[in-house]
Amino acid sequence: MRPTWLEIDLAALERNYRRLAARAPRARVLAVVKANAYGHGAVVVARALLGFGAGGLAVATSGEGAELRRAGIDAPVLLLGSLHPGNAEDAARLGLTPTLATLEAARAFAAARPGGKVQVKVDSGMGRVGVAPGELAGFVAAVEELGLEVEALYTHFAVADEDREETRAQLERFLEAARALPRRYPLHAANSAAILAGIGTELAFVRPGLALYGLPPDPREPGELEPVLSWKAKPTQIKRLPAGHGVGYGLTYRSQGGEWLATLPFGYADGFSRALSNRGFVKLKGRDVRVVGRVSMDQTTVLVPAGTSLDDVFEVVTADLDPHTSLTGRARALGTINYELATALSLRLARVYLGKA
Ligand SMILES: *Cc1c(COP(=O)(O)O)cnc(C)c1O
Repeated sequence: MRPTWLEIDLAALERNYRRLAARAPRARVLAVVKANAYGHGAVVVARALLGFGAGGLAVATSGEGAELRRAGIDAPVLLLGSLHPGNAEDAARLGLTPTLATLEAARAFAAARPGGKVQVKVDSGMGRVGVAPGELAGFVAAVEELGLEVEALYTHFAVADEDREETRAQLERFLEAARALPRRYPLHAANSAAILAGIGTELAFVRPGLALYGLPPDPREPGELEPVLSWKAKPTQIKRLPAGHGVGYGLTYRSQGGEWLATLPFGYADGFSRALSNRGFVKLKGRDVRVVGRVSMDQTTVLVPAGTSLDDVFEVVTADLDPHTSLTGRARALGTINYELATALSLRLARVYLGKA
């Protein structure tokens, strides 16, 4: 096995699932497993979440849906984002429930799967995809006219992690549009941040993604979540270089002489950002060790204490909120969000599952 791998703790995943489900006791959970379950591995994670009681799954692309179907997962799968008409046949063939926000997509899906189930997205304020609240009644009528079954209506929050007042206003615009329809439909709105804020948790479904993986949407309020994933690596070479000897592409670091360097077998192609060159950290025996030189595609060099061996296991990502080595802390240090670092974890990293799979 390649000497770098991810460990995914399914017991922690289950605890996070139960904590979130308990915040919306009357809702069913549509577990969001897009982007390879936020880097955690879509098939194993999806199966586990269904086993914990999730009522369905949500993905971003038909390819992600195809992966679940190929693995034999036959649970309902919602395809998030406004369906492109050119993608309707794939969605139909895979038995995915598409999200409709345009008539073109509705017509294409009705042709590909007569009488098929769909969901309709309402733009309650985010301005990205969805039908305007004032156009919802006409749109739903047109979709049903095409013979499609509108299974639910949903909306998505733009600032659930920062502004509760605006999030409540978005929810209210959504509910008002739904109330104006001649029929009642199951509704959903809450992503992780909204579930944690208790907004939209009374509706038929909730749609947690990030928080299932124990990653806080708002790092200032980590709450009770437990990060599920850690990343480990063993060095492939440990050496001393003479003083002044360069390290890595661009020779941006020069050995001080006397110091020990370890070369770790991962790089930016694995999702360890090149922006961590000469400034990131990984952990060895609980201590921060510093990245020196540039992070290259497949290798990264760090300064280590004397006595470090090829059997030592470094923690590239710790399953906590450490400011340097957790996904959440490192994201902050890099000026981005934990979502981006989690979803950047490359497919070429082996995923090792701990706990029942
Ligand atoms: C990604 C996504 C979610 C999950 O969001 P988190 O912040 O990860 O909980 C929910 N709904 C939609 C429409 C999404 O695109």
